[in-house]
Amino acid sequence: AGLVVAVDGPGGSGKSTVARELARRLGLRYLDTGAMYRAVTQLALERRIDIEDPQAVAELAERAVLSVGTDPDEPTIAVDGTRVDAEIRTRAVTNAVSAIAAVPSVRTRLVAQQRQVIDASRAGGGIVVEGRDIGSVVAPDAQVKVFLTASTEVRALRRSRQLGEKGVDDVARTLAELDRRDALDSTRAADPLAIPDGAIVLDSTAMGVPEVVEEVLRHCGQ
Ligand code: C5P
Repeated sequence: AGLVVAVDGPGGSGKSTVARELARRLGLRYLDTGAMYRAVTQLALERRIDIEDPQAVAELAERAVLSVGTDPDEPTIAVDGTRVDAEIRTRAVTNAVSAIAAVPSVRTRLVAQQRQVIDASRAGGGIVVEGRDIGSVVAPDAQVKVFLTASTEVRALRRSRQLGEKGVDDVARTLAELDRRDALDSTRAADPLAIPDGAIVLDSTAMGVPEVVEEVLRHCGQ
């Protein structure tokens, strides 16, 4: 029992906005798995751990206690009891997260916790889960799988706007960083461009969030 909706795709594809809105409309919980990788990264940076040292990163992740709040109106994340909702969105974290997400024991640990959150949500109706490997690894049994994409240019524009940037140079830099992260993730962690079997593929380059949401809701039988 319980509806599980998997939303995968690259950064800036509109995943978070779409996944949260879907959860609200369906009355489900919401889990941002990227936030969990970001929280471990934030901790590593704060503790000045060498992010390219997998052993050190693995030990850090083993001891860190992550808590996630799954209300789509106010998703939260805390590490060892401290909220890090804003800290995990910095450029420093964004540029370091791929290295952390590439450590196999970090993935094993976070995937196990993600599955626990999903299982706990079933009694309450279910959950919308967003990430890179949700439909393929975390919840291959999800009833609805969505793969959201958008052109690199549109993705960079959206990210830049989220970061409060305005200049053309900022967008160009964000684009370069997005490209770099996609490449790193594709070879080392969860491939942001891998479409899970059975996924509905939606390109949000020209489609607005409301249209994407309506399209997915139709697949959810709404
Ligand atoms: O989605 P978001 O941009 O917050 O993800 C941050 C990073 O976390 C990704 O670039 C990727 O390295 C990692 N990630 C992952 N698997 C997931 C979600 C995110 O490896 N399911």
